Amino acid sequence: MADVHLWKAEENGKIKSSAIWNVIRKKGQIVSWASLVWSSKIILRHRFILWLAFRGRLSTRDRILAYMDILEANCVLCSGFAESIDHLLGGYFFAKSIWNIFTLAMGIVSLPGSREDIKVAVQVLSKGSKFYANVFKCGFAVIVYHLLAKRNTKVFGRVRRNGYHVWSDIVFDCGALIRTWKRVPKCERKWVLCHEWKVNYDEVTSFKCFKAR
Ligand SMILES: [Zn+2]
Repeated sequence: MADVHLWKAEENGKIKSSAIWNVIRKKGQIVSWASLVWSSKIILRHRFILWLAFRGRLSTRDRILAYMDILEANCVLCSGFAESIDHLLGGYFFAKSIWNIFTLAMGIVSLPGSREDIKVAVQVLSKGSKFYANVFKCGFAVIVYHLLAKRNTKVFGRVRRNGYHVWSDIVFDCGALIRTWKRVPKCERKWVLCHEWKVNYDEVTSFKCFKAR
């Protein structure tokens, strides 16, 4: 055959930008938690933070210390331990108390301690698209976001927020997203879940309650 000029990104004689992107981009390994982190049942901003947390790429002091001399490497919230992702999201007593409230609300005993084990457990609990799984992944991501936000408000604003404030923000964010879901089938367990996240059950079910006159 004679040599011809042919674009790799050509499809049926036409060049598509999506095809060009697939040719030039570097494809990484697809991780098992990708569908969880990028789920539409998680608030967009929280997806990005969860992605950084799962990849171990949040700018905690233990990571900053690796390339820059900093005066203080201990946790800004409790000062007793080195600041790391594992400490902020799990080891720190405040984080533990928030996770305890969450596991109680979701009806599970507890979440594992290490980050790798948590990744596995969360993927199992958030599998599928049923109401419980969706609430779980939304709640999990909201908590990760707000635990880091608590650390940032202390670092940048020097404001100390207590458990009541943080949990109220978590319930507010999670409830706001749940209220956008419609046609949730009616059952007692779903009613309990809505109650935990302060969502009016009738707003998300396909069934309407009619008051007797
Ligand atoms: Zn700490």
